[in-house]
Amino acid sequence: MLAHPIGILGGTFDPIHYGHLRTALELLETLELAEVRFIPCRIPAHRGLPQVTAEQRMTLVRLATDSQPGFVADNRELRREGTSYMADTLASLREDFGPETPLCLIVGTDAFRELHTWHRWRELTDWAHIVVMQRPGILQPLPPVLETFMTPRVIYDALALRRKPAGGILFQPVTQLNISATQIRALLAHGQSPRYLLPETALAYIHDRALYRSLPTPTL
Ligand code: ATP
Repeated sequence: MLAHPIGILGGTFDPIHYGHLRTALELLETLELAEVRFIPCRIPAHRGLPQVTAEQRMTLVRLATDSQPGFVADNRELRREGTSYMADTLASLREDFGPETPLCLIVGTDAFRELHTWHRWRELTDWAHIVVMQRPGILQPLPPVLETFMTPRVIYDALALRRKPAGGILFQPVTQLNISATQIRALLAHGQSPRYLLPETALAYIHDRALYRSLPTPTL
């Protein structure tokens, strides 16, 4: 049996909200993770540049995770030049934690369905397990290439995450909170309050710096 796994939650966190935090806490406890590392990207691979800086998104993550034991705000993607690719991030975590420690890349169902569009996506399970935060109920069919990749890798219990350092895919039900950063940005841009969708500390920072006061102009 290996050590307790390290959970890795990457994202834009533009801004971080309770949809990220509550699910991360449930996984920390139910999968007995050693910790969950929140890793904001510097330059997202799959969307335009956020309106607020990477440092500001990082500060929001720090403020939101500070008070929870087992949560770690990790700035490694901010220290890397260029587009932030998860394959590079996992390689650097593997270097830090060594070959034996199980790593678990945590993704939402929406992110998992797009996995085959990620840079060097087939490598991800060489570096880590993948834990998909699943919505209870019927799973929509996956793209065939992803289905073929996934089938031999699926594992059914959390203990399997501790038997190998990487390579499994676990679907884990979590409480569904229909909160998105997009919704929070829209509320703020329209002068409405996103209170109770994200921690007060993060919201105070957003107000203090007058962040997200307008929606970005769409690029043509
Ligand atoms: P946006 O609305 O800007 O696209 P987002 O709210 O989806 O952002 P991200 O930073 O892109 O937030 O998400 C990081 C990770 O957290 C992704 O794997 C995503 O699937 C997951 N996630 C985001 N919101 C939730 C939620 N409400 N419940 C569970 N997982 C979530």
